[in-house]
Amino acid sequence: MEVKTSLLDNMIGVGDMVLIEPLSEDTFIENLKKRFDHSEIYTYIGSVVISMNPYKSLPIYTAEKVEEYRNRNFYELSPHIYALADEAYRSLRDQDKDQCILITGESGAGKTEASKFVMSYVAAVCGKGQEVNKVKEQLLQSNPVLEAFGNAKTVRNDNSSRFGKYMDIEFDFKGDPLGGVISNYLLEKSRVVKQPRGERNFHIFYQLLSGASDDTLKKLKLDRDFSKYNYLSLDSATVNGLDDAASFRTVRNAMQIVGFMEDEVQSILELVAAVLKLGNIEFKPESRCNGFDESRIKDKNGECYIDCNLRLLLFQAYYARDALAKNLYSRLFSWLVTRINESIKAQTKTHKKVMGVLDIYGFEIFEDNSFEQFIINYCNEKLQQIFIELTLREEQEEYIREGIEWTNIEYFNNAIICDLIENNKNGILAMLDEECLRPGTVTDETFLDKLNTVCAEHQHFESRQSKNSKFLTDHSLPHNCFRIQHYAGKVLYRVEGFVDKNNDLLYRDLSQAMYKANHSLIKILFPEGNPAKVNLKRPPTAGFQFRASVGTLMKNLLTKNPNYIRCIKPNDEKAAHIFTDSLVCHQARYLGLMENVRVRRAGYAFRQPYEPCLERYKMLCKQTWPHWKGPARKGVEVLLKNLQVPAEEFAYGRSKIFIRNPRTLFFLEEKRRQC
Ligand code: ADP
Ligand code: MG
Repeated sequence: MEVKTSLLDNMIGVGDMVLIEPLSEDTFIENLKKRFDHSEIYTYIGSVVISMNPYKSLPIYTAEKVEEYRNRNFYELSPHIYALADEAYRSLRDQDKDQCILITGESGAGKTEASKFVMSYVAAVCGKGQEVNKVKEQLLQSNPVLEAFGNAKTVRNDNSSRFGKYMDIEFDFKGDPLGGVISNYLLEKSRVVKQPRGERNFHIFYQLLSGASDDTLKKLKLDRDFSKYNYLSLDSATVNGLDDAASFRTVRNAMQIVGFMEDEVQSILELVAAVLKLGNIEFKPESRCNGFDESRIKDKNGECYIDCNLRLLLFQAYYARDALAKNLYSRLFSWLVTRINESIKAQTKTHKKVMGVLDIYGFEIFEDNSFEQFIINYCNEKLQQIFIELTLREEQEEYIREGIEWTNIEYFNNAIICDLIENNKNGILAMLDEECLRPGTVTDETFLDKLNTVCAEHQHFESRQSKNSKFLTDHSLPHNCFRIQHYAGKVLYRVEGFVDKNNDLLYRDLSQAMYKANHSLIKILFPEGNPAKVNLKRPPTAGFQFRASVGTLMKNLLTKNPNYIRCIKPNDEKAAHIFTDSLVCHQARYLGLMENVRVRRAGYAFRQPYEPCLERYKMLCKQTWPHWKGPARKGVEVLLKNLQVPAEEFAYGRSKIFIRNPRTLFFLEEKRRQC
C-alpha cells in the first residue's frame, strides 16, 4: 500500500494550520499568504477547509483532479475542496450519515463558486446511468436559473448572490442521486427599484433585453435599450467579463433542462417585463373638488395600466408603485424556487440520505446598515453559534469515541448576541414586531425609543450579572441609530425603514388588482387579492418569517454532520495576486479561525489512524522495519517507545494515535528525512 501524507510532503507553507509552530495571528496570515502566492488556495484547520478566492481560473477542477481525489483519505493529498466533498459524500454513502456543507465568508469571498465545485464534484462521483444523469443535470442547471434572477453585480462582486440558499441533495441507499430541495432566504428586493452607485439590478433584466430575439422583445413590448427603463441603473449597465446575451441563452437552456414548459417561460418573462414597465409609470397630481389630492397615472394608454382605486398623494403613488414592483419580483423569485423544486424533488418516498449545501450571505458591515444587514448578520450569528457548538461537539465526540480524556476549552459563545436579537420577549425582532402591530402612530423613531429603553434596562440588568451586554448605547451615536457588538465586530444600524421593511405590506387594493389581472401566474403570486378570501389577519412580518426560517434551518443543520468551508477574500479589488494582510486578518478574526485552531490544538493537535502512521514511520525503528506482523497499534507503540518520545506527548485512541504537540510530529519527520 502506498501511503502518502501529503500534508507533510513538498508542501508550500503548512497545509494544516494546526501544525503551525509557533502559532500566532502573524504566522497564520503569513502561511495563508505564502500559499496564496503559490496558487495554493486551500488550507486546512483539521477538517475545516479555508478557501482563498484566487480571482483567476486555476487548473485544479479538472476531471483528472476529480479522479485524483476520489476515494482517497482526507489527509492523503494536498488540501482541496474536493477532499472535503469526497469525505462528505463517502461518509454519507458508506456510513449513512446525513451531511451538510456550510459555506461562509463575506461577499465576493467565493462561497457560490465553492458550492458549485462541491456540487459538480459530487455529481461526478455519484452514480451512473441515464436516469441518474438526468437528475444530476437538473440539479446542476438549477444554478444558472436562480443566479439569473437572484444575483446582481455589486461593488464587491460582479455576480453577487442577493439571496440565501440552502439545497438538500437527496441520495438513495447506494449513494445515487434522487433529487433535491432548495430553500431560499430573503431576497434583497429593494434592488428591483433602486441600486447603489456602481451596481446593477438583477441579471435577468439585462439578459432579457440583450439576449432575447427581436420577436420576443416585440411580443413583450420591450425596448432593447437599457436606458429606457427607470429601474435599470445606467452607470454600470454593462459589466466587463459578463456577456448578458450569452447568459440569456444559458438561462433559457437551463430552464428547459430543469423542466419549465415554454408557456411558463413566457409567463415568467412577461412578469420581468411588467416590472420594468411598472418602473416607467409616472403620476401627476390632481386636485379634486372635494379638496383632496390624488394621483393619476400620467399616460393611461401606457402599456402598464393598473386598474385600482387608490386615492394617493403623489409620493404615496410612487411608493405604492415601487412596493408593487418589489413584491411582484420577489414573489416571482420564490415561485421559481417552488417550481424548480417540483421538477427536481425526488420521485420516491423511500428513506433518503441527504447532503445539504448552504451558501448564504456572509456578515455585512457597511457604512450604512439597514434592516437587511441586520437580518443577514443575525443569520450569521446563528451560523457562528452552530459552528462553535458543532466544532466543539465533534471534537468532544471524537475524544469519547477514541476513549481519550477530554479537557474543557474556553471559547467565546455568541449565544448572548443571538438572544439579544431573537428573544421572544424582549429581543430586538420581537420589539420591532410589537411596534409594527401596535395601534397608533408607529415610526422608526418610536421603535428606536423602545429599543433604547428596553435594551438599556436589559443592559443595566446584564451588567450586574456579566459584562457581556452587546447592545451598545453611548452618546456619540448618531440620533437615528443603534449599535450592536456582533461577534464579527461592531455594527451601527440606521433605523430608517425598519418598520416599513418589517411590515412588508402592500395596499390591499393593489393585491386585488393583481389578482384580477388576466394573467394566470400573477394570480398565483397574489392569492391574498382574491376577494372571496379576504383575510383580515395580517400576514407575518418579514422579521418573524426570517426568524422562523432560520430556526428551521438551524434545527435541520444540527441533525447533520457538518463540513466547513470558510471563504476568504484576498483583496477589495477583485484582483488576482493581491493579498491585503489587514483585510485577510480581519476576516480570519471574525470567522473565528484562530479560535478554531486553538480548539483543535487544545488537546491533541494531530491525529492519524494507526496504519498510515506506522507505514510512514516504520523505517525509524529496527523492530518495525521493513514489516511489522502484529496489529498496527502495537507497532506504533513499539516505534514511539523506541524513539524515546515522552509518553505524555501521545494518547492511544481506539483507532488513532493522538499527538499533542506539532513539534513532536516535526521531530518524527526530521528523523525520517535523515534516514
Ligand atoms: P460569494 O458567493 O462569496 O459572494 P462568488 O463565489 O460569487 O462569491 O465569487 C466571486 C467571484 O470570484 C467569482 O465570480 C469568480 O470570478 C471568483 N472566484 C471565486 N472562487 C473562485 C475560484 N475557486 N477560482 C476562480 N475564481 C473564483
Ligand atoms: Mg454568492
